[in-house]
Amino acid sequence: MKQRLIGCITFIFCFLALSQTGFAQDRGNQVERPKLVVGIVVDQMRWDYLYRYYDRYGNGGFKRMLNEGFTCENAFISHLPSFTAVGHATVYTGSVPAIHGITGNDWNDQVTGRKWYCVEDTAVQSVGADNDNGKMSPRNLLVTTVTDELRLATNFHSKVVGVSLKDRASIIPAGHAANAAFWFDDKTGRFITSTYYMNDLPDWAKKFNDADMPSKLVAGDWHTLYPMNTYVQSTADNVVWEGVVKDEEESPVFPHMISRFYNKKKGEVRTTPFGNTLTLEFAKAALKGYQLGQGSYTDFLTINCASTDYVGHRYGPNSIEVEDTYLRLDKDFEDFFYFLDRTVGIGNYTVFLTADHGAAHSIKFMEEYNLPAGFLKTKDIVNNLKAYIKAKYKTDKIIKEDLNYHVALDKPLIDRLKLNYEQVKRDAVLFLQTQPGVEFAVDIENLGSSPLPEPIKSMIANGYNPKRAGALMIVQESGWFGSSGTGTTHGSWNPHDTHIPMVFMGWGIKHGRSTDTYHMTDIAPTIAAMLRIQIPSGATGRVVSEALK
Ligand SMILES: [Zn+2]
Repeated sequence: MKQRLIGCITFIFCFLALSQTGFAQDRGNQVERPKLVVGIVVDQMRWDYLYRYYDRYGNGGFKRMLNEGFTCENAFISHLPSFTAVGHATVYTGSVPAIHGITGNDWNDQVTGRKWYCVEDTAVQSVGADNDNGKMSPRNLLVTTVTDELRLATNFHSKVVGVSLKDRASIIPAGHAANAAFWFDDKTGRFITSTYYMNDLPDWAKKFNDADMPSKLVAGDWHTLYPMNTYVQSTADNVVWEGVVKDEEESPVFPHMISRFYNKKKGEVRTTPFGNTLTLEFAKAALKGYQLGQGSYTDFLTINCASTDYVGHRYGPNSIEVEDTYLRLDKDFEDFFYFLDRTVGIGNYTVFLTADHGAAHSIKFMEEYNLPAGFLKTKDIVNNLKAYIKAKYKTDKIIKEDLNYHVALDKPLIDRLKLNYEQVKRDAVLFLQTQPGVEFAVDIENLGSSPLPEPIKSMIANGYNPKRAGALMIVQESGWFGSSGTGTTHGSWNPHDTHIPMVFMGWGIKHGRSTDTYHMTDIAPTIAAMLRIQIPSGATGRVVSEALK
């Protein structure tokens, strides 16, 4: 009796508490939602860049997100490999490559043997340029995105538009049911799309292209924003581990005279901070063109700022180039958020900021400071494996290929030759583990019994789609990756590649900070919960309730 009374009182209490908070928002005859959601993925942005350059950020860009929004300070990628298309698919589906199917920027179809680029589509045509760069669509993505779910939830009244310099970073976030996705064509210097979305570019996009903004942005070349000696977070300008513009530059130093060669190499605008400015200016034009955030249904704009990735790859995380790119991006964000304030209204939109992956420090930089790193020679390793297998089994044809740190075996051939498949895999794994820079080699089909520490084990399982990846995987030692000697890359499980920013700001978001562990897969379910729409069809993440009002 006493317990029942306590239960009853608890119920009334909970009901009253809920009516004060959660239920209150549902009063009235409409589901309350923001007018616009803007998803921003900063390509190759390590979490620590929020604070590495914090002292010189203004108040309206990254700091505005931290000061007004909710920041998840320990958010991680939970799949391997940590590449661009994979990250974007994971952010917007809340799912993992094993389920959403985007296992790399490229993959080999294990059934047909055909190599696929993640967003290639031979059934569509380019729109806006007379070349093949627009033959792209999201059809290789196997589940819905949060942007798809918004379209479904509103019977397609909501509008969804994707923008990036990279086709994959525009197409995948915008989803299958997008109104449009646009990306930059290196041949023409114009934003293009595909017949998957439309048969002709909208007038506003033609006008934007005709104005040739890239030429104007590079006209003054790339000088540092501030005096060189103020870049205290970076190494000297001229160091051996920084790359140069091929055939155009002798050494990797400022100023980068891009105006001299832009006309013959339009894609070079990508590897300057102006590529981000260009992207955000196009995003503004798209917002106006489609009247996003102006109607009675919530719209969704997905933006990828890709120049941070290109600049990072060429110069490495410790370069003045990367520091300058983030200081400029911060100013571009300040400008972009003001634009949203003016056009959509303060408090009417929600923004989230994250990254598709991070990046390692340059190998020679690490060596200079006696930090662990090394050159991983994947090609040599696989050739050594083939030689070893040939000596033992009289053929190396049973090792099919390697891609994305996966090695594929030819099982039908192994069966025809009457070899023991399990034994071949065991031999291959034991051999691979003897190779320099290889920390673990794994037979993913027997992952459960592999002596691997977490989170590596789960990350391998999450990244393994048997139709789109080989059954063996190489996990490299910390700081090891394939490199020509300059710049950097990403792809590993280590925090420098997988610890990403995750910040929410605006409508429906509390101000706060958490140092708990979160995952990239949590973003889409959180946005879905905030919008009160269905969770994407493959989502495995959880809602970051603590960020929501
Ligand atoms: Zn990327």
